[in-house]
Amino acid sequence: MEANVIPIMNNIVDKMDMRLTYQRKVILNVLIENIDKHLTANDIYTLIKSKHNIIGMATIYRTIDILNKKGIVIKHDFGDSAAKYELEIEQNKNHHHLICKKCGKVIEMSGLLKDDFYETLLQDKGFECTDYKLKIFGYCADCRNA
Ligand SMILES: [Zn+2]
Ligand SMILES: [Zn+2]
Repeated sequence: MEANVIPIMNNIVDKMDMRLTYQRKVILNVLIENIDKHLTANDIYTLIKSKHNIIGMATIYRTIDILNKKGIVIKHDFGDSAAKYELEIEQNKNHHHLICKKCGKVIEMSGLLKDDFYETLLQDKGFECTDYKLKIFGYCADCRNA
């Protein structure tokens, strides 16, 4: 995982078009290292603290907000208490979220839609799709077996 951080960080810095401050770098590092997860602001705070860096919650919220406006971080509402964040970069696009209504687990999945759905959208609605994320609600395997 560690090996992937540098090229992803370089891509983000290009897209971000602003200075990579210490705080932004630390927060982005955590998001890149957890690219397969969905983190709350509190998760980000805890992960940063575990590496002996202290960045206050206000700074985390402010930085996340900036990254969100720049299209680098996406904010999710999965119907539980806190908003969850993940990187909205090429490597992480176009996956769906399967959300368990019982335990709240969020499972990522891609390849659910047929490739020609872009064309269907364009032809039927004149809508050009650039990326997509579906929220699919139900019960995960663990909860179904319990
Ligand atoms: Zn479940
Ligand atoms: Zn996701």
